[in-house]
Amino acid sequence: MKYSELVKQGQVKLFKAGIGDAGVDAWILLENICNISRTDYFVKMHDEVPCEYVSSYLAAIDKRLTHYPLQYILGEWHFMGLRFKVNENVLIPRQDTEILVVKILNMIQEEFKNQDNIKILDMCTGSGCIGISLAKLCNKVDVTAVDLSKEAIVVARENARMNDVKNIHFIESDLFKAFNMYNDQEPFDIIVSNPPYICSKEIESLMAEVKNFEPRMALDGDEDGLVFYKRIVDECNPYIKKGGYLAFEIGWNQAEDVKELMRTRYDNLEVVQDLACLDRVVVGKRK
Ligand code: GLN
Repeated sequence: MKYSELVKQGQVKLFKAGIGDAGVDAWILLENICNISRTDYFVKMHDEVPCEYVSSYLAAIDKRLTHYPLQYILGEWHFMGLRFKVNENVLIPRQDTEILVVKILNMIQEEFKNQDNIKILDMCTGSGCIGISLAKLCNKVDVTAVDLSKEAIVVARENARMNDVKNIHFIESDLFKAFNMYNDQEPFDIIVSNPPYICSKEIESLMAEVKNFEPRMALDGDEDGLVFYKRIVDECNPYIKKGGYLAFEIGWNQAEDVKELMRTRYDNLEVVQDLACLDRVVVGKRK
């Protein structure tokens, strides 16, 4: 079979199954599985595809037909220009979350410009995408990254290694519970978190890709979606410096609720919107 026929077949199958980005997904799988760039494709489109590539490609298409996420098929995804390994134990890094990382990087430049070592906590790190990006893109930070899931920590550690990031360490903990067991009790300058924030009853209405395959524990924010914001705001006090920052990713309709939770202990509450002009991040300064 020729490359042009193979990609066409992939596109048609995905399209017929109602996969949203059928065209793009068929292409990305071709590039990755058949190891051919777009430019090479236009040179080789009428060449025969090696048999082993044909079967691997069609197997990947079949997997995608079940709404299994493209990113898990590829086993990696991009975030902040870096590569991250992903599997079913971690949430797939979202472009929206880059808003949170960029906000923190800007804050470091503006608010911490005279400080040499900035201690950051990434709570609910998942794949590690937030903490690892911060550690990679700013060498004067020292990141602690926490997750409840042992399996997620395995992925996050691998991602730190893959990105050659050394200024980060990982703790397996249900939020702050394990912190007493560690000596590292010096408070953080910045606590950042993209916790699970979907209301339990809304999970069923999410895309099949998300609700059937991404880890439920990384999505489910309990009845009102706010349980982790409440717990983090309540429990983080001993671990955040006065004048330090707490920054959350939030759902589009959660800014007022999260600000309300933070108001008694935080000043300068700020909401940052994403590229779709939806509320995406809330930041406050510890009083
Ligand atoms: N911090 C990770 C991310 O932003 C995981 C978030 C989560 O599991 N809720 O992708």
